[in-house]
Amino acid sequence: MKIAVFNTKPYDVEYLSKYNEHQIEFKFFDVLLNADTVKLTNGYDGICIFVNDQVNAEVVNELAKNKVKLIVLRCAGFNNVDMEAATEKDIKVYRVPSYSPDSVAEHALALIMALNRKTHKAYNRIREGNFSLDRLKGFDLAGKTVGVIGTGKIGAIFSRIMMGIGCTVVAYDKYPSEELAKSGVSYLPLEDLLSQSDIVSLHCPLMESTKYIINKNTLSQMKDGVMVINTSRGGLINTADTLEALKSGKVGYLGIDVYEQEEQLFFEDLSESIIQDDLIMRLISFPNVLITSHQGFFTEEALQQIAITTLQNIDDFRNAKASSNQVIFEP
Ligand code: NAD
Repeated sequence: MKIAVFNTKPYDVEYLSKYNEHQIEFKFFDVLLNADTVKLTNGYDGICIFVNDQVNAEVVNELAKNKVKLIVLRCAGFNNVDMEAATEKDIKVYRVPSYSPDSVAEHALALIMALNRKTHKAYNRIREGNFSLDRLKGFDLAGKTVGVIGTGKIGAIFSRIMMGIGCTVVAYDKYPSEELAKSGVSYLPLEDLLSQSDIVSLHCPLMESTKYIINKNTLSQMKDGVMVINTSRGGLINTADTLEALKSGKVGYLGIDVYEQEEQLFFEDLSESIIQDDLIMRLISFPNVLITSHQGFFTEEALQQIAITTLQNIDDFRNAKASSNQVIFEP
């Protein structure tokens, strides 16, 4: 089976090659898959993509013309694939539903800790011989209220971590978890979560119903000086509205591992480029904003699991074996 891998980084080559016991023939492309690059898929049975490859209806049409039958995602979210179009063309889609939910939950904690205690600033200061504590004051997390939006695999682990630190955890999810409720999480309507939380952390998927769940209106319902954390998908936050809330002081801290226009920026070294995205440049200018470049998943354990599951998904497709990792279009 011949698979074209898009948006390849050195670690993709390393891990997919290391665990390839299924004799799958990979061709690694470093470009993103989109309407311009889809011509590269000619001659391949399937494609292997990541979070920022764009499989819209136009790309699906081209894939079908090239007789591509399989899309394997090296991630859990599949919001970048037009599932209706893929289903219509009988192109099967598989994902890695769970690789290391701990990795992302722990990264959310890392953002909170760094924003609060300003360890990134202390690191730079000390290297310059500045041992002053000026403007490094934080707050105790113990006793604070953390609002978790989406309590699936990652949100549940994150909730437990925060309870372990001594926080009160309130949550909002369309499908509350009984187990999590028993362990001390209180499920609330979204507006109550927003008005009670000192920290709001997003762990729901990006869908039509969750796009811009953080917007002018929901921001206005939050506490003054709230900390907002997003390790889920950039499109959950209306960045322009959040920028205004940062300027007014409504949002006191913003920690994001994802950004709505990230496909033009993230995963690349642009240190010698003129960055055209004024919104992110303005965000970067705030002292109380911490941005990481979609690295929540980036741990040894997660990379291993992504490679093993991706290879298994390709093998299951090849052998027409039923798999719960196949994404089924739900109209
Ligand atoms: P999951 O499917 O286990 O959990 C998602 C939860 O969100 C579910 O409990 C679901 O009921 C809930 N939900 C759905 N719609 C909702 C809504 N409108 N409001 C509130 N909750 C809603 O997913 P997961 O494995 O926990 O991953 C969560 C998200 O994290 C993924 O969708 C992905 O976008 C993101 N993610 C980011 C990284 C990273 O590197 N930063 C890595 C993996 C996943």
